Amino acid sequence: MTIERLQTDIFILGSGGAGLFAALHANAANPELGITIATKGLLGKCGCTRMVQGGYNVALNPGDSIERHFMDSIEGGKWLPNQELAWTLVNKAVERVQELENELGCFFDRNPDGTLHGKAFAGQTFDRTVHKGDLTGIEIINRLMEQIWARPSIHKLEEHRAVALIKARDGASIAGVLLLDIRTGTFRFVQAKAVLLATGGGPTMYRYHTPSGDKSMDGLAMALRAGLTLRDMEMVQFHPTGLLAGSDTRMTGTVLEEGLRGAGGYLLNGAMHRFMGDYDTKLERATRDIVSRGIYAEMKAGRTTPNGGVYIQMSHLGPAIVAKKFKGMVDRCRDCGFDLAGGLVEVVPTAHYFMGGVVCAADTTTELPGLFVAGEDAGGVHGANRLGGNGVADSTVFGGIAGDVMPGWIVANPGFRAPNEDVLAAETERALLPFQKPQGDLNRLREALLDAMWDNVGVVRDADGLASGLVKIDAIEAELLTVGVGDVDRAFNMTWQDWLNLRSLCESSRVIALAAIRRENSRGAHFRTDFPAPGDFLTSRFTVARQVDGLIAVAEEPVRFTHIEPGQTLLNTELTVETELTVE
Ligand SMILES: Cc1cc2nc3c(=O)[nH]c(=O)nc-3n(C[C@H](O)[C@H](O)[C@H](O)COP(=O)(O)OP(=O)(O)OC[C@H]3O[C@@H](n4cnc5c(N)ncnc54)[C@H](O)[C@@H]3O)c2cc1C
Repeated sequence: MTIERLQTDIFILGSGGAGLFAALHANAANPELGITIATKGLLGKCGCTRMVQGGYNVALNPGDSIERHFMDSIEGGKWLPNQELAWTLVNKAVERVQELENELGCFFDRNPDGTLHGKAFAGQTFDRTVHKGDLTGIEIINRLMEQIWARPSIHKLEEHRAVALIKARDGASIAGVLLLDIRTGTFRFVQAKAVLLATGGGPTMYRYHTPSGDKSMDGLAMALRAGLTLRDMEMVQFHPTGLLAGSDTRMTGTVLEEGLRGAGGYLLNGAMHRFMGDYDTKLERATRDIVSRGIYAEMKAGRTTPNGGVYIQMSHLGPAIVAKKFKGMVDRCRDCGFDLAGGLVEVVPTAHYFMGGVVCAADTTTELPGLFVAGEDAGGVHGANRLGGNGVADSTVFGGIAGDVMPGWIVANPGFRAPNEDVLAAETERALLPFQKPQGDLNRLREALLDAMWDNVGVVRDADGLASGLVKIDAIEAELLTVGVGDVDRAFNMTWQDWLNLRSLCESSRVIALAAIRRENSRGAHFRTDFPAPGDFLTSRFTVARQVDGLIAVAEEPVRFTHIEPGQTLLNTELTVETELTVE
């Protein structure tokens, strides 16, 4: 098998907020460096940063403070976040939003006095989510892309899929990445001095899910095979309000943003009862995990809408106001035949964000020298729950940090490293496996995985369900390895891409199930009916998973409370300005 060879100083996998920020910062640090971005889709058109609707959390306005933002993030994460990462997030978010506006030209919505407008987002003690209407991600990615296109020295490999992280011959550092050019079916090995993993997680193995179709947990599957440690893998965030538009449309599962509940939207069950009061005193403004479980309980009890979910109602806030404030959402619902402003829209919890990821330090370094990680591929920033608005802050903050740090790392660790050719050959063969098998029913296997994860490893879990989910995942992957893709032409062979997606999803699903079995308590996004209590926060532990000799080993490590311990409050967290629920 021929593998084309390329070289670049810095190699960035993924073109979301993390990848693009890294490229710009690395270029600013040293314009002489060779920087290459590879992305599975089209630059600026793929990934989830573009899909960000609600906004970006930042403590900028009077009355708020970074300490309050930090406390909200730690308490929302149920004391599991790596506090150094969370502290870096809330501090750097201030600088990053100013950079987005003043250097990149983003224009976020403002209050009459000229300050940035902050939306109310669930689980937060201050309205700090800055936004551009409800299409914030498009504003951010478009401005980033303008800057990337203005720098022709940044090389772009579009529709290139990373297949494997390849270590150096001595195994002590990373040597580069094996890529598959989706357009031609050609394999390329990109040798790099520093590599950034920023493929954006993407829990698309659930029946209902929000992330873009190009995301299939490839980054975490590759990291696992390269021997890296993953943490918090049981922590899958379900957004409570995924659109439920029937089984025959890909729009089902896409998210209706948090601001709808923040602005005062009601959730009603099939009997038109506003049920969230039965589950939490904060009603619809409770955190995502609580609202998702409330909806799931209504579904399990059969109190559902015609398509099996619940309703969201906004009309009591005034249809004209809703149409103005949530234009993108209203248009999206209208496209699917629903009137969000004046009527009722069916919704269902939908897998939205992956809190788990590669263990890393606040400077984005990992345990494998030369490999950096940022954005949704990184673990530990959010612990058991990500606050709405902290996701895009995470990817832009840590992407920028990676771009600042990698040029210096290259100076300290100069030169390219020779790859382990045996692993390179084995990974290429692994990707080509389906061409040696008879064609089978890939779609049936994908549907089986979606159901197994939703039914057994989803919003509500228990030991028996998880064990049976694990058996199903193993069986699905075993069958996948016997199923071929039929067409021998490798150029734009989307069945082959689906096969590879499904393999990554099976590998990461197994780790999610095993970590969920290991965590015998309920924290944030992880809820077990057989262990409903959260456990003692002071002795909090997080799960770590590694692949050893082809098998996954899950262990636990103690959380280090480097800034604040459970029961303590940071100075400067007093609320000095009352927050209000307003719909202007
Ligand atoms: C519908 C929706 C709404 C959201 N709204 C908000 C919000 O309001 N506020 C908020 O804070 N967060 C929100 N989020 C979460 C937010 O989008 C993510 O946290 C963040 O954008 C992730 O950025 P990233 O750079 O890590 O990944 P992404 O932006 O997802 O980029 C990942 C990139 O990696 C590429 N890639 C994937 N696999 C490979 C591979 N094998 N090889 C090469 N490239 C690959 C993809 O094509 C893509 O370019 C939302 C998410 C969704 C899905």
